[in-house]
Amino acid sequence: MGHELRAVNFEFRRVKSLSKKQSTTSNEQPASARRLQRGRRATSNGLYYSFNEYCRDRFGGRVERLAIDAGFSCPNRISRMEGGCVYCGPRGSRAPYVDFQQSVSEQLTKRISELKPRPAVKYAPYFQAYSNTCAPVSKLRRLYQEALSVSGTVMLIVGTRPDCLEQATLDLLAELNERVEVWLELGLQSAQDQTLKRIKRGHDFACFSRAVRAAHRRKLKVAAHVIIGLPGEGRREVMMTAESLAALPLDGIKIHSLHVVSGSALAADLLAGRIKLLGRDEYVRLTCDFLERLPVNMVVGRVTGEAPREILIAPQWCLDKMSVLKAIDEEFAKRGTRQGSKHRS
Ligand code: SF4
Repeated sequence: MGHELRAVNFEFRRVKSLSKKQSTTSNEQPASARRLQRGRRATSNGLYYSFNEYCRDRFGGRVERLAIDAGFSCPNRISRMEGGCVYCGPRGSRAPYVDFQQSVSEQLTKRISELKPRPAVKYAPYFQAYSNTCAPVSKLRRLYQEALSVSGTVMLIVGTRPDCLEQATLDLLAELNERVEVWLELGLQSAQDQTLKRIKRGHDFACFSRAVRAAHRRKLKVAAHVIIGLPGEGRREVMMTAESLAALPLDGIKIHSLHVVSGSALAADLLAGRIKLLGRDEYVRLTCDFLERLPVNMVVGRVTGEAPREILIAPQWCLDKMSVLKAIDEEFAKRGTRQGSKHRS
């Protein structure tokens, strides 16, 4: 899966909300659009369709994502002997609070006990670290079912790579989708094959498209991971990625800026001056450009992220998540646009 960042406590916003009775599949537009004007935070302006808002529409309230490291590896790290994607650090995509030596149910129980008590909260076990379909189906079934045994679970999220999805795995996820809503999060990062080669993703865009369509045919929800600011990419390439994703039957998107962590291949490139990272304001402008080109009902799971402070080399501005979120709101307000404003249906 794409390089995952801390998945906790993100503040999300929405552009348009669907009524609770409406479907939110990629091919449908919401019948009613209403801005979020609840004013809980300075940054809540209703400019894109957040994961939290989707959960309120779909499940009637907040759904807490519970990150799991089930001890999977990643085919891109194992087989290519090059350390995987150039931005991937030694931790892969593990959330900092996860103890991968515990069982799935132990991790979930611990995480729930750490959360602030909230009435009627629902849960979404999130297989996050590395490639969570990289195992025989019998093992996947056991681990996913263990996660679903947690009371209050309404959703299962599985992060993986598009080239690590056998038919039998998709069939298993489709079967579980009869019990809870299953989301498949697929790492992509860019729709440009040249970029995918440069960052050593180990698959091309056609592979990603096939995986999205195969999952969509089984009625799974599918989200893409995208990085803005990849080496060799400018605004043109980022917009091409947005347009390419807007044309696929995707249900969700997660976006963050390229950042460099210690132990990654990119760390050496940065120190040698071979790559340049985006400044915050440039990232904000590109993110707004990107969101404007997506369908209004595509769930935005993330527009910023932060690597753990102890391994982040640069940029330091991504640690100030709230300032990035606020700047995105302000940029949209300045433009008078929002998610979907430039979407071509
Ligand atoms: S090497 Fe594997 S775990 Fe690391 S970012 Fe790439 S796909 Fe994810």
